[in-house]
Order: sequence, then C-alpha cells, then structure tokens
Amino acid sequence: MLGNMMFKPLLISSMIEHAGRYHADSLVISKNTDTTITETTWGKVHENSKRFANVLASFGLNFSDRIATIAWNNHRHLESWYAISGSGYVCHTINPRLFPEQLIFIINDASDRVILFDKTFLPLVKAVKPLLKSVEHYICLDAVDEAISQDFPEIKFYDELIAQQNANFDWPELDELSASSLCYTSGTTGNPKGVLYSHRSTVLHSYAISMPDSLNVSARDIMMPVVPMFHVNAWGTPYAAAMVGCTLVLPGPGLDGASLTQMIDQYQVSVALGVPTIWQGLINAAQQAGSKLESLTRNVVGGSACPPAMLKVFKEQFGCETIHAWGMTETSPLGSANQFKAKHQHLSDEEKLQVRLSQGRPPFGVDLRITDEENGTNEVTRDGETTGNLQIQGHWIINNYFGKTESALTSDGWFDTGDIATLNEDGFLKISDRSKDLIKSGGEWISSVDLENLAMGHPKIAMAAVIAATHPKWDERPILIAIKKPDVDLSDTEILDYYADKVAKWQVPDKVIFVDAIPLSGTGKMLKKDLREQFGSVLMDS
Ligand code: ADP
Repeated sequence: MLGNMMFKPLLISSMIEHAGRYHADSLVISKNTDTTITETTWGKVHENSKRFANVLASFGLNFSDRIATIAWNNHRHLESWYAISGSGYVCHTINPRLFPEQLIFIINDASDRVILFDKTFLPLVKAVKPLLKSVEHYICLDAVDEAISQDFPEIKFYDELIAQQNANFDWPELDELSASSLCYTSGTTGNPKGVLYSHRSTVLHSYAISMPDSLNVSARDIMMPVVPMFHVNAWGTPYAAAMVGCTLVLPGPGLDGASLTQMIDQYQVSVALGVPTIWQGLINAAQQAGSKLESLTRNVVGGSACPPAMLKVFKEQFGCETIHAWGMTETSPLGSANQFKAKHQHLSDEEKLQVRLSQGRPPFGVDLRITDEENGTNEVTRDGETTGNLQIQGHWIINNYFGKTESALTSDGWFDTGDIATLNEDGFLKISDRSKDLIKSGGEWISSVDLENLAMGHPKIAMAAVIAATHPKWDERPILIAIKKPDVDLSDTEILDYYADKVAKWQVPDKVIFVDAIPLSGTGKMLKKDLREQFGSVLMDS
C-alpha cells in the first residue's frame, strides 16, 4: 500500500516561488562589477527570474540545454540561475579564472548554447569565442553599452532583454530527477569533469545545509556567500537563502579583506562562507581597520583545511564561531559540518577547540566510511585513529560524470573522494590529506596538512604550504614553503626548532623556503602541484 499524501516534485522553481511569496521584502544586496551597490529584494529577484525565463523561452531552446554563466556573485546572476533551472535548462557555472584552453574545453564539452557574463569578462569571452562550437547567444549581465555593441554586434544586454518581457511565467512541472545545474571539477588531474546536479538533489541539499547542525540559517540571518557561485554553486547557499528567506549579501568581485570587512560592517552580515585564504585576508584587513566584525556570529570554512590558529582568532578576537565543513564538487558540496553535540557543551575551551578542528560529521542524507584502499570496499574501524580512503554516498552525491555512462562509484555503490581521513564513533571526520598531497617518506606517510597547520600557528608566518620533495634516500621528504608576515625577522632554523617539540623528528621538514607569494587556484586553494613542479627537486640539487 502506498501512502496517501500529495506528491509534489522537489523543484528549484518552488524555492524562488516561496521566496517571492513569503519573503518578498527581504533584501538582496549586491556589489556590481563596477563596485556600485544594488539593493533589491527577493520579490524583485522572483519577478526578474520570470522575465528572464520569458527571454529564454523566446530562444527556442530544448529541455536540458546548457546555459553557461561566467559571473561573480551578484543579483543578475542570481535571477538568471532561477530562470535557467526553473525553465528546465541546465545552469552551467564557469570559473573565470580558468585558463582559456580549459574554458574552451568545458564550454564545448557541455555544448552550452547561451553564455551569460559579467561585463568585466567581455575580453575573456571575446578571446575564446572563435573556438566555441555550440554557443548561439551572448548575453552581457548589464545595461546596454553602445561601445560594446559596436564591435560585438550580436551581443545582447540582460537589462534590456528583461525590460521587454513581463513577469508572468508558469514554471514547468518537471520531473524532480531532471538536470538543473552543471559544475566542472578543477581538473588538477587531467581534463575537468562535469558534475550534473538534479532538482531533487539540489532541494534536498538546501534543506540539509540550512539545518541547525549545518549552517543553521534562517529568515533572521544576513548571509554573505564569499565563495563564488561558480565554486560548487556557492556551496548551495543561493538556493538555501531562498528556501529560508534570509537576507543575502553578494560581494561581487570584492573578495579582498578590506572590501569584505566593509560589506560585513555596513550590511550587518551574520553568517559568511569562504575558503581559508579568504578568511586570512579578512582577518588582516579587519585588524588593520580596527573592526570587530560585530555582526558576524559565525563563518563557514571549507574547501581546504581550516588552520587551528584561524579558529582561535575568529573566536577570541571577533567572537565568531567558525564552522569547519568538508565537501567537494561531486558532493554538492556538503559532506560534513562541525557543530557540537550535547555531550560537548561542558568541555573546556581547549577540549572544545580539539573537537572543532575536525571537519565535522555528516548531516542526515549522506553517509561516510573509511576503507583500507582506494576504491576499496573494506571498511576500517571508526576509532578516530585509523586512516584510510574517505568514501561517501547519499542523496546529493555523484553517480556518474557528465557525458559518461560508466559509474563513478565503487563496486558496492560508494564514491571514493581521493581524501585520506579518519572517522570517530560519532562520525566526526578528520581529513589528513588529499591522497596526492600525502608525503611518503621511507615508507611512512606524513600529512602535509598537519605540518601546514602547525606553521600557520607560528606568529610570524602568514601562509604556509608543505609539499613532498623528491629525496635520494627517503623517496620523499616534506619541505615547507612559507610567506612571512610583513616586517618580521624569521630564519629557517627558528621555524624548524619550532617544529621540534610538536612532531616526531622524522616529520620535521627538511627545508624551509621563504617566498613572496604562493600560487592559488581559481577557487583560492594553494596550488601544491605548481609548488611541487617548482620546488619538488630542491633536495636533489643540494
Ligand atoms: P578542487 O579542489 O579540485 O577545485 P573541490 O572544490 O571539489 O575541487 O575540492 C574538494 C576537495 O577539497 C576535497 O576532496 C578535499 O581534498 C578538499 N577539502 C574541502 N574541504 C576541506 C576541508 N574542510 N578540509 C580539508 N580539505 C578540504
């Protein structure tokens, strides 16, 4: 016997309908690419999404056709997202910091028929245009600009297009398993691969990230996703924001610490999300500006391991709880978030800090396990100590890559993440490394993340990466590449001595190299592959 309850498909259009009806006057504040600010509301975002859906309907596209966006976090980008997915097309967000060859590869691989882009990315779009095979419509997310039209005659302008349409549009009643958006992995190994989300996976993920033990967002929050909308859909926050009706602050291109401090203070942001390098910039800028970031009650750190020193600074200097979360493109991304349980509440501050260093535990809807080999099926003990390969399954986890028929899963249906980790009996996850970043010294594994975290705790170090350098005797040895804080005196012996009582002797890096900058990926993560290319043989030369 089936249950007697109504069936409503889980659709992205229902989220913007909800926001438009029940949170119409909640603000969506957005920094434009020219750094002016636009204040709009969920009501207007809802209306414009329908206007743009009418624009797309006039293009004669087919169900599930891909529409690319190359844009910062701003209100036009947000409106277009709802119009695209709500209409039954696939919203393909693209990282503008990719190399042009990668950009061309993924646009052709996705067969995008329309490209929407911020005005700042016009040179990029023009440069790759001759090599794009499927694109028929180019839309600049801005007001009409005659100068641009003159040398790009087929260009259309978003503001003009929506002004010509009305806000009546009936969202189609799609199958909830229909594709809704597409995001490519960064392609650190080989060509980028597409991850195709569905309406169902997106709606369920939005519920999960909003829950108290995840981001704990509600209609009382003012949320600022600093993580770009092209980085795993800003971790799903633009959807969750519509679902809960919170105020949204979109920082546009202003990702530097000073701009973020100003946005947080001016708009009283209560929760913000980003990668560790973003927070490092914010801390420095807020300290310099003498801001206490009063309104910020919590921030979410993911994408790379959060250095313990950062957790402490946010808590002690800014009264801000840092929620450490783990995920990846293939997992929508939320796989775990760190929030206490009742039994942790009475712990001392130091003990609490230890709990908070973990990447947290999975929300309902995903399951984690550790196996003893890559793509293996043999689970190891959940004792918080036994390391192995992290695998995941659940409602918003990949099954197969875009355009590929073969499964991306193990023989018993789990996705192997490529991360090396431990789980404890409560499911608290501790990532020790990415398998390709682990350092294998004389047959023993050394976690680059542990050594980086320690370095980041040194008062004179601003940023640190630890990589494997090839070694004639031990195969690989760790070396530390570090940026000093401005105007400090720091020698390599001082930092090596600092390690001496914190890790086993054989884990202390063999060499320290001070640099002015560490290369970052398009999503703000340290590019260890590039560092390995540059410094990986320094121990062979000496
Ligand atoms: P890429 O880094 O290749 O651009 P993703 O953004 O999907 O792709 O990154 C996913 C990876 O980032 C994870 O597999 C993991 O290695 C790393 N990661 C994400 N969050 C954390 C975290 N909180 N701590 C440590 N590593 C993390």
